Parts: sequence; C-alpha cells; structure tokens
Amino acid sequence: MSDHYGHVRVEQIKPQGEDAEKEAVASPDPSSITATTGTDASPGKQRGRGHSKPVPCVKAAPDWPLRGTAAPAVINLNNPGFERALQVKGSGSLLHGQSETNGNYLINRGPLETRREDGQSRKRRPVTVDTSKAKTSLEALKMSIKQLKWKEFPLGRRAPCDIYWHGVSFHDNENIVSGQVNKFPGMLEMLRKINMSRAVRTMQELFPEEYDFYPRSWILPEEYQLFTAQIRLIKEKDAAVNPTFIVKPDGGSQGDGIYLIRDPADLKLVVGSQAKQAVVQEYIPKPLLIDKLKFDIRLYVLIKSLEPLEIYIAKEGLTRFCTEPYQEPSQKNLSHVFMHLTNYSLNVHSGNFVHSDSQNTGSKRTLSSVLYRLAAKGVDIKRVWSDIIALVIKTVIAVVPELKVYYQADIPPGKPGPTCFQILGFDILLMKNLKPVLLEVNSNPSMRIEHEQEVAPGVFEFVPSPVDEEVKVGVIRDTLRLMDPFHKKPVMSSQDKSKGFEHREDIQMDGEPDSRSPDENQPSLCLKQVYPKYTKQFNHLRLVERIANLFIRFLGVKGNMRLGPTAFRTFIRTCKLSSSNFTMASVDILYIDITRRWAAAAADSREAGMGLQAFVEAFFYLAGRRFRSLPSREQVVSLLELCEAQLGPQSEDRRSLSCGRAPPPRAVKTQTPCLTYSQLASPAPQRRAASQDNRPLQALKPRTLRASVEN
Ligand code: ADP
Repeated sequence: MSDHYGHVRVEQIKPQGEDAEKEAVASPDPSSITATTGTDASPGKQRGRGHSKPVPCVKAAPDWPLRGTAAPAVINLNNPGFERALQVKGSGSLLHGQSETNGNYLINRGPLETRREDGQSRKRRPVTVDTSKAKTSLEALKMSIKQLKWKEFPLGRRAPCDIYWHGVSFHDNENIVSGQVNKFPGMLEMLRKINMSRAVRTMQELFPEEYDFYPRSWILPEEYQLFTAQIRLIKEKDAAVNPTFIVKPDGGSQGDGIYLIRDPADLKLVVGSQAKQAVVQEYIPKPLLIDKLKFDIRLYVLIKSLEPLEIYIAKEGLTRFCTEPYQEPSQKNLSHVFMHLTNYSLNVHSGNFVHSDSQNTGSKRTLSSVLYRLAAKGVDIKRVWSDIIALVIKTVIAVVPELKVYYQADIPPGKPGPTCFQILGFDILLMKNLKPVLLEVNSNPSMRIEHEQEVAPGVFEFVPSPVDEEVKVGVIRDTLRLMDPFHKKPVMSSQDKSKGFEHREDIQMDGEPDSRSPDENQPSLCLKQVYPKYTKQFNHLRLVERIANLFIRFLGVKGNMRLGPTAFRTFIRTCKLSSSNFTMASVDILYIDITRRWAAAAADSREAGMGLQAFVEAFFYLAGRRFRSLPSREQVVSLLELCEAQLGPQSEDRRSLSCGRAPPPRAVKTQTPCLTYSQLASPAPQRRAASQDNRPLQALKPRTLRASVEN
C-alpha cells in the first residue's frame, strides 16, 4: 500500500503575490500553519488579529510545549497565515481578552436584520427549523439555532419550516414539499461499505492514479474467489509477503464486527445460513503515529447542493486515538482492537482512554491541534491539507452519480421540493509517508457533544465534551448559515460566468475567498468551499455522472431507479448504438446478462431491472465494442460524446435531473489510457482484478482473530 500511495500526489499550488498574502492573513485554515525553522514562536507571542469581531470555529491554542515536542522553535510567527491560524484555532480568550466557553461564542448580531441595497436594514422573520427528528444531534443543533437567533420547532410544525433537521435519513419526516432537508435521499444506502467501495472502484477503473487513496477492496461474498486467487498469486510470487486484511461487515459502524485476517481461509463468510455481506480491504500497516499511537481524522464535509455540485470542508475536525501503542500487524497482535482500530466507541472502554478538556491532549483531539503538532515537527501541513481536499472532492464525485438517481426518484422534476444538503463524516488515515487514505464516509456522523465517561467501575455516563462541542457546534451552525434561505447568493461576475468558475485553477491552501461570511456582520465561516472552487482540477473526473445523466433520461417512469429492457432498447436506438454487428437481439442478451449478474450481487434489492452500476458496466462494454482501437477511458469518453450528441441538450428533456438547474457538464477530453480493451470487455470483477497491481506486501504469517468489538 505504501508503495502504491507513495508517488502520486495532488499538485499543491501556492497563492501568488500580494493578494495571496492577504488571503493568508484572512485564512483560518489549518494549512496556514507553516513549518519553518529558526523563529521564536513561544505561546506568549500568539496575538489576536485585532479585529473587533469574534471568529467561529475557534479552538484553544495548543499549549506548547506539547508532550515531548520542541515545537515552538520551528514555527514561523512572521508568517501572517500562522498568526491567523493561532488566533483562529485559539480560544475566544485570544480575542480582546474575552473568554468564551469552549470557543463557541455567541453571535451578537442584531435580531435578524437584512440590509437592503439602499443600505437600509429591515427586519425579517427568523429562519424556522424543525428539530423534531434531530436525535443525537439535537443538543448541538439547539446551541447553533440559539446562536443564530433562529426559531426552533422541537415538536415539528403544521406550517412548513425553512429547514428540517433529520437524525438518520431524508425520510425521517415524510411529505415535506418545501424548504431544505439536511439529508439527501439515498445517501445512507450509497455510503454503506459495499456501495461506497463499488462507486470508488468504478472510478479506480477509469482513473487508477487519481483514486489511489482508497485501499484495495473486495466485496464478499461475490468476490471471494477473486480475493483468494489474488492473494494466492501474491504469495506465490514472493513467499515472504504476508499481507493483512481488514474485514468490515456491510451495514456495520463504530468498529462493530470488524476483524483482521492474514489468510482468506479465516474469513467468516456465513452468519447462520446467510452469506455475510462485507468488504475485505487491504490493511494499512504503516500509519502515521503520534505518541506511538495510531489515530484517524474525522473530517466534516458539507454537500450543499448536488447540481451544481457544491462542496465545503470544515477547517476543524477531530482526531481519534487508539489506546494501545501501535505495532505493525503480527500473529500476536491481530486481535488487539485498541491498537488497530481508532473507533472512539471501542477505545472509550479501554482503561487507557484519556478524557481531556484540552483539545491537544487525550484520546480525542481537534484536527488543528494535531496539524499544529505535525507542523512543529517540520511536516508540510499545506501539502497534507491539499491532499485531503483532493481526496474529499474525488470521493464525492464518485458517489454523486448514484445520488442523482436517488434524488430524481424521491424528488421528481416538477415537484416543488424540498432541496437537500448534508454533512458527511470522512474518516481518513494518514500513512507514515503522510499520504491520506480514505477509510469510509459516514452519512450520519455523530454530532453528539457529550462523551461516555466511566464514573464508577463499569458505570458509564454521558458528560459534556468540550472538544466535541467546539468542533460540532461550529460545523452545524455554519452549515445552517450557508443554508440560510434569506441569504442572497453572491452574484457571479460576467467574467466568472463565462469561465464557469474554471479560472480558479489552484488549490490554494491559504486563500479563503469562499469562506467569507454570508452575512457581512458575521465572522468568517469555518466551512471552506472546495467545489466549484477547484472545478478545473477535478471536473474531468465526472465521467460516470454523465453516464448517470443518460441513465436518468431513459428511466421513464417517475420515481423509478431501474431501467427496464424496453427503456434499454430505447437508449440503444436513440443513441444509434446498434448495427449489423450488434443487433437488437444482442442488445437484449447484453441486458439480460448484466442485469442477472447484478441482481445476484444485490439479492436484497426489491426492484427489478438495470440499476445504475449495471448500466455503467453495460456502457463500458458498449464503449469497448464501439471504439476498440482507443485506450479504455477514451472509449468511454467517445461513447459519451456520441450519445450526448444524439440526444441534444439535456435541459429540454423533462427527465433531466431535478436536483438542479445547471446545464449538463461539458464533454471532457481525457487522454491518459489506463485499461486495455480486453479488460473493459470482460466482466467488472475481472477488469478490476486486472487493474489492481500485485504490490509486494508485508511478510507475516497467516492468522485470524476476531476483534472483540465492544459498542
Ligand atoms: P466502522 O464504520 O465500523 O468504524 P471503519 O471502516 O471506519 O469502520 O473502520 C474502523 C477502524 O478500523 C478505522 O477507524 C481504522 O482505525 C481501522 N481501519 C479501517 N480500515 C483500515 C485499513 N484499510 N487499514 C488500517 N486500518 C483500518
């Protein structure tokens, strides 16, 4: 894995010139912590920025020196970005000496005033939020609403609300016809481990180098044979190689049911009489350690809209630490969950778990405190942060196609609404070489601001957690601010419009033009827009989304998510894909063959027909047939262009996506070949097998032990 991940990095480009420096000053980004040498950076020199408004998402300044770290000597306080970072990450106490509880300061703006163009302000009614289904996020949500002086409806409301806050899924409240819901239809399903793996692997087929941040994965039981064959091959090639794998049950969370293996024979394939659905994944043996402990990052990401795609990343997150010093996997330690699994829900039950009110010690810390610490050790934090941003954008691009299918099924065109947004929890591991690896994405990241504490032996109680409150209230509050229905969208300049955002070429870690407050009286947001800001670097990856757009056009019946045989034939006919070599009879056989195989893979599916993933496979096959001589990704691009040309502008089609009003994405020219025709023309698992390299892995003996997962 480390070999594989080691060499591909997203190019990180620094802002240039004076503007860049100004932006750096205005940036509360973790990446604005710069590691340089020879400058005095003692805590006493941390200064407030000198403006009169407090800043949200503020955190306690790390209490240097951190355990065993000679940090201050390597921080450059002359760097304005650093000064800003300290202040922003610092507690409210850095601001004019006012101490604020947990950094979540109360926003003291006038009661919901809006400013008219003539400069006069007028009162507006408060934004209304239905919190009746908020579940465990209720406390953080209540705080956020209070800070914004909005109106909460804890029991729901007969009249429509502006915002509906759901704890689980889009369907928590039924029959919402207006406003905004904090969940997308289908997100829960889409981010289950198997679906998520499939979506990322499809992208790996098209863009293997761009999607190298996701560990090699196999889906059980359907790819059991493939998995065993590949492992056998690796071991035959080099007997010293003995990789470790982590097995994750499909519907699991919080480490539940996860175990490590070193031999496919140790897989637990059946529960009762049922085959167990799971993902088996290459285990990352060399994570980055702090204080000899493995840790992972929980990053909060807001999908503000699907079309146009708008993604924001919270500049503050959490890090969760293991509670037993890390050793590379071996026969002896394979079952040591406190060593290998970073889940808070597991480690909180370890005797070594450290509850701390400070943000830079203990078993749960803020992301900024960890980045600060790494910066102090000379780590290029800007690079890490830019790699993380790239990982997030690429992952969202991988799941968007299927989300659009769900969206149009639940909110068909013509239906007044609602519209959706969602906060996701990205779990990211940093490898020893600082490469970020995606572990999973949670559709319902915990927004609880209390943690479990053992108050007496064996007795656990929920007590307030300042670190959780600090981070989560900031994320929810600023999400609400971005979704404020009364906030006028910034008007794009004609230059912006003509360039479709694409002039923003660089991933600028210091620049924060998009995290400015939607309300001028408000401090800057802790959510940073990363898309469309970085459209230009990532737009070429949105190929599967274009295939999904075609798929949706041919779905036919409102609310449908699967293509029937007739609709598939219509697609072939309309796009003129049949010929004397590829008759309609062959089309029917293709449909039956692929649909059957996918039906077997998703045995629990209630709907018959061809789903998006099956359609994508058929599309790849058709592309391979039609454009035999081209490299495989070019085949797909060429077929897309051909189909889109036959169909004309999507906006004229009433089946066009309901989740936005933007024109269809422009055709993207891609050049890099990745798969051979024979790979594309073969069934997906074989293609995947062919596209996965057999990198040498750790030499350790086989052994399986089930992790004793507690919840
Ligand atoms: P869950 O949803 O049950 O928390 P995760 O995929 O997040 O499942 O895995 C649980 C934990 O296992 C992670 O927090 C991480 O510490 C560890 N982990 C997961 N996948 C890997 C991997 N591929 N390599 C190393 N550690 C992993």
